[in-house]
Amino acid sequence: MGIDRAAVLAWFDELQRVYAANRDRLTELDAAIGDADHGSNMDRGFSEVKTELAKSAPTGIGAIFKVAATTLIKTVGGASGPLYGTFFLRAGAACPDVPEVQAADVAAMFRAGIDGVVQRGKADLGDKTMVDALIPARDAMAGVDDVGTIMERAAAAAEAGMQATIAMQARKGRASYLGARSVGHADPGATSAYLLMRAAADVWRSR
Ligand code: ADP
Ligand code: MG
Repeated sequence: MGIDRAAVLAWFDELQRVYAANRDRLTELDAAIGDADHGSNMDRGFSEVKTELAKSAPTGIGAIFKVAATTLIKTVGGASGPLYGTFFLRAGAACPDVPEVQAADVAAMFRAGIDGVVQRGKADLGDKTMVDALIPARDAMAGVDDVGTIMERAAAAAEAGMQATIAMQARKGRASYLGARSVGHADPGATSAYLLMRAAADVWRSR
């Protein structure tokens, strides 16, 4: 089974809810190793995406992702806005612009989105960024043909990747200025990236 337009819109509704609910948690993580704005950045961005999609959501899934991308680039700011914007821009471009896509398309679009983040941010695994959650998620999607299973594996891998950032020293972004003092805290972007995957797994489980 694949997913349809309604499932994609339900995912964006869930993302708005999840980032509002986790705003303080993400802000605390960013207060520890950054500038304490990641929670408000994500909450503002995904709340605006929901508003835009409620006004007029395109028919095709690729075009819906494009609306999300341009809205996030405009409203999130910081390091993470352009990176999440790139994720949805590339994912949307990789997706056939139709109202329903198959599981293989879902895997391909997440892969394209994640590869876009890696290209844009130039972070490697182990640099303590969102990439430490996204790359394991991407790699966990290979060779599975049911969208619920694909996303469940991706979310589990993203969670493990996010946990692994606790022991890492940051080598990219604002947290890298702290050097060894960045060790001992989960990366805020890896945490928000995990939440992105978790929300898709939860919303698409039964589809
Ligand atoms: P800022 O750091 O500008 O305040 P945010 O607080 O919104 O922006 O986002 C911080 C997160 O962005 C970090 O926790 C990290 O995961 C991610 N990040 C920063 N730089 C990069 C990069 N070059 N590649 C991938 N992710 C990055
Ligand atoms: Mg910040």
